[in-house]
Amino acid sequence: MNRQEELALKDLKYIWHPCSQMKDYEELKPIVIKKGKGSWLWDYNGKKYLDVVSSWWCNLLGHCNKRISKAAKKQLDTLEHVIFANFTHKGAIELCEELTKVLPKGLKKFCFTDNGSSAIEAAMKMSFQYHYQTANPQKTRFMALTDAYHGETIGALSIGGVDLYSEIYKPVLLDIIRIEGPDCFRCPYGLNCKNCEAQCIKKAEEAFEKWGNETCAIVVEPLVQAAAGMKIYSPKYLIKLRELCDKYNIHLIADEIATGYGRTGKMFACDWAGITPDIMCLSKGLTGGYMPMALAVTTDKIYNAFYADYLEGKAFMHSHTYSGNPLAVSAACEVLKILKEEKIIEKANIKASYFNSKIVETFQNHKNVGDIRSIGLINAIELVKDKNTKEPLDSKLRTGYQIYKKALKKGVILRPLGDVIYFNPPLTINKKEMDYAIKVAKECLDEVLN
Ligand SMILES: *Cc1c(COP(=O)(O)O)cnc(C)c1O
Repeated sequence: MNRQEELALKDLKYIWHPCSQMKDYEELKPIVIKKGKGSWLWDYNGKKYLDVVSSWWCNLLGHCNKRISKAAKKQLDTLEHVIFANFTHKGAIELCEELTKVLPKGLKKFCFTDNGSSAIEAAMKMSFQYHYQTANPQKTRFMALTDAYHGETIGALSIGGVDLYSEIYKPVLLDIIRIEGPDCFRCPYGLNCKNCEAQCIKKAEEAFEKWGNETCAIVVEPLVQAAAGMKIYSPKYLIKLRELCDKYNIHLIADEIATGYGRTGKMFACDWAGITPDIMCLSKGLTGGYMPMALAVTTDKIYNAFYADYLEGKAFMHSHTYSGNPLAVSAACEVLKILKEEKIIEKANIKASYFNSKIVETFQNHKNVGDIRSIGLINAIELVKDKNTKEPLDSKLRTGYQIYKKALKKGVILRPLGDVIYFNPPLTINKKEMDYAIKVAKECLDEVLN
């Protein structure tokens, strides 16, 4: 038995992996990764894998990025952590100052948490407490869209609308007002999202009218519902939602955990709509995928509703041990510098148009390709049984998973979302790597579906 196999077996003895049926690992053993560089990962056999899923969408600028590693190492020898109540450090201040320069106008106050789900929870609590303290204690509920994904903790899971993750927990979840969201591939209005007027906002209008008075906030993933299969919708929907939120005094919480940091071709997906949410949640690309950290960023208006003499009891009594962790912050500061100095997003946009046109050219005529959608470097291919009726494949066949396994053999990590195959690579991916990813995806698709 070689080192790779030995470690894989030992792994299975101890580790319960995320989002996995562990029995699947009998056939497909965990791949033990030894090192990473750029868009690539290497196992103990020296076999390399192209990380086109950015290690769950967080790796922004390649693995072991020289500049981020250097910044983190420097921080490691200076200050590893400090309590963030009453204490602070230069990196955290610098990070917020720099972020205010790129965030939608008006987002100025930063609450640090340590993962995406916890940033969502903080945002929800913050919104509820704001209304409570501004004479609207009847506002106790949250709205969210069908097919939403906002994380795995009980509050975040409650607002999520993907049954695969939440169905079984329904008895312990919050009572959410679920709004039928945009579904551009199977648009019930028969429209094309490139030139529609987001007529589907009607469902939100109805819900706001009915439940607006008891609602604190609506949480949405702006433009891309990533976990649902990279479902993309029009910025017009966001513009209209912003107007509705203003009309009914409901907070718009933008979950930019997956869409922020240039993934959609602009710094934030909200920028496509030119809107400022009341609270924005950031994580994943925030530290370039180096360290777990997240932010719930908000406006002076919300912040000021908590600002009072201590005995009024209006403080936001929310904390995480690792709030503002200096190591994570050092990575996050360097990420912002790299984005700016190396013009990463501008360059990624040039690559994105090449990537997308080549994907369309390669896959559009395949009999099982129902939809190809893209924004920024994100490209998704939805496989269907019948192109004309858009009838899905039988999910029991696990077609996406079969393609994933084949692609792994060829050294590409094409982890699917059901029967949606997607690419969401580091923004630093190069042309040769894009070509390779497409070539392997095409071969595997043909092998599984022909
Ligand atoms: C990943 C993700 C989350 C949850 O973040 P975690 O760090 O995994 O808790 C929330 N919302 C969206 C849109 C995400 O993609």
